[in-house]
Amino acid sequence: MVVCPFCSAGNGVVLESFPIADLDALYRRLYKAPVARLFGGRDVLSLMRCVECDLRWYEPMAGGDEDFYNTLQHKPWYYVDHKHEFDLALPCIEPGSAVLEVGSGKGNFARFLQNSGRPHRYTGLDFSSQAQRMAASNGIDIRIQSIQEFADSHSDVYDVVCAFQVLEHVVEIRSFLNAVAQALKPGGLMLIAVPSEDSYISQSNNLALNLPPHHISRYTDRWFTHAATILDMELLRVEHDPLQPHHRFDYIYQLTIASIYKLMRRRRPMVDHRWMNWLARIPAFMLGKFLAQGLGPHNSPHGHTVLAVFRKPLAPTRGPIETIANNDSTNGEVSLPNGDATTTKGDSMNIEGNAQASHA
Ligand SMILES: [Zn+2]
Repeated sequence: MVVCPFCSAGNGVVLESFPIADLDALYRRLYKAPVARLFGGRDVLSLMRCVECDLRWYEPMAGGDEDFYNTLQHKPWYYVDHKHEFDLALPCIEPGSAVLEVGSGKGNFARFLQNSGRPHRYTGLDFSSQAQRMAASNGIDIRIQSIQEFADSHSDVYDVVCAFQVLEHVVEIRSFLNAVAQALKPGGLMLIAVPSEDSYISQSNNLALNLPPHHISRYTDRWFTHAATILDMELLRVEHDPLQPHHRFDYIYQLTIASIYKLMRRRRPMVDHRWMNWLARIPAFMLGKFLAQGLGPHNSPHGHTVLAVFRKPLAPTRGPIETIANNDSTNGEVSLPNGDATTTKGDSMNIEGNAQASHA
């Protein structure tokens, strides 16, 4: 039994497994970035799903190291100046708000807020000293600290805490979100933007940047609902971005390849170096070039980013649920703080590590 790194339920099921050697070959081919060393000598990587909260995560849960991100950060898309979730988040920032951004990078959201003309007080957290220097040159306050450390001395301080494209890089998901909640004032808003597992990217294969060690967890809309209950927060809204014009080709391309596999009644692995995948790319490329032109705002599906807005209650309704994992002393029944009980199964397993990043 594998324990969920968010809700601690012990009933993770394997959705798909693939050889780490195949993943390593994919990263070497696309980015000249070997990754096999990051998985502790393991041969196989598995995408897991928590039956309780619907979190998807990879076992072993290993993120990228400095070498890996040093390779990626030279790519032109690494520090994107504007993310669509900034637009989605803006209505949540009342004039005069104290805003904390976790994984701020060089402070693009801070500059977006400045340009919006909305007065605010901004603090960013990141692990990159290079990003901090770039932000400082623009007068933006970025601290090199984890949210867990920062929240210990900044409890109940912020009106809004946001993390854009960060949670999918984090190993300690639960302590990360607990710390975000701790830093919020009662009634404050937690804004989480992640790649959506309910978008077309969940059907994409050979999409290295949605795979470990870059992205190590995946989030459905259903998970946000469970997360609100477990964290004792109110889920106000879940909003998907529209398919961005520069993703229209990729949308058609990936769906065409998926359809070809379906027609051939073949399973489509997440990482696939077989001849069939190479062959399927030819019609997918042609159809992508042709059909993408017909997609516009009126007939596009939603894009690959989702923003969830949570509100911290003015007074705790019952406190967060610490664990819904089984242990022998409870015979599978664990009392919730409000006196309810849930029945779960499984053993516990510690997953250690920490991550906080500003990666796209
Ligand atoms: Zn879970």
